[in-house]
Amino acid sequence: MLVYALPGTLETREADLDLLWEAGATGLEERGGQIRAYFDERLEFTGPLAGGEWLEEQEQDWQAAFKRDIRPVVAGRITIAPPWLADEVPATQLPLIIEPGMAFGTGHHATTRLAVEALSALDLNGKNVLDVGTGSGVLAMAAAKLGADLAYGVDIDPQTIPVARENAAQNGLSAPQAQFDEGTLAQGSFTAPAGHAALAEQGYDVLVANLFAELHDLLAATYLDHLRPGGALLLTGILEDRLGLVLAALEREGVRGVEVRQEGEWALVTGQK
Ligand code: SAM
Repeated sequence: MLVYALPGTLETREADLDLLWEAGATGLEERGGQIRAYFDERLEFTGPLAGGEWLEEQEQDWQAAFKRDIRPVVAGRITIAPPWLADEVPATQLPLIIEPGMAFGTGHHATTRLAVEALSALDLNGKNVLDVGTGSGVLAMAAAKLGADLAYGVDIDPQTIPVARENAAQNGLSAPQAQFDEGTLAQGSFTAPAGHAALAEQGYDVLVANLFAELHDLLAATYLDHLRPGGALLLTGILEDRLGLVLAALEREGVRGVEVRQEGEWALVTGQK
């Protein structure tokens, strides 16, 4: 890989950036007080672009570097690992194998970890769990591994559903225990998988949602419509400075026993209907 490195920053060299593109640069970046322009061949520069230095750099295999650096993630009783690290999950942990990069939810984000830890702290044996914004399916799958009878994941993004289903299959989880559908929570209708109409009468035992504070505020009443009395609400995806919005929404809806857990700038709020 050929790099032409010029002293300066994107700001101080602003006028020269167009010249680099015009000369055939295939990419530009600023690093360590230098503008680094990527070229396919060595050129002789005169004028404003003179005075730089040509560097030959090793091609980085980003895929290999990513695979080398990724580690299993421990969250409560669950360890989430990519397929090539499945053997590293300790026998005392429940393994959740997720291929990274297909959809949000590999356990490497604090919000996913907070939610898996919160699920892990509950007794889910025989319970019904609704996962709103399922992404990779990680939270529904964690609930199923933790003993839930039905873990139902919905996501507004249709691309996530085949990924979640494939992940579930890889983990030996299938319908009716773990199910995934495109969808969201709409006011006035009950979100449940086919064949579970009776759930609408009783509500879920647990609702978990890793979304964002403004959406939790909007959906708070609908969350409660989907929970049975005493059911557990687990909300994350909440930035510390938006926590007040979610706490106010839960107070407005009469949620009891509200508790907050934090990892860095991210918060998880739990409570009961
Ligand atoms: N549940 C996974 C986890 O905890 O790692 C993924 C969470 S990811 C932050 C949020 C997911 O919610 C995305 O897959 C997104 O498509 C989905 N989403 C966003 N808005 C939604 C909505 N209104 N209803 C359902 N899903 C939604």
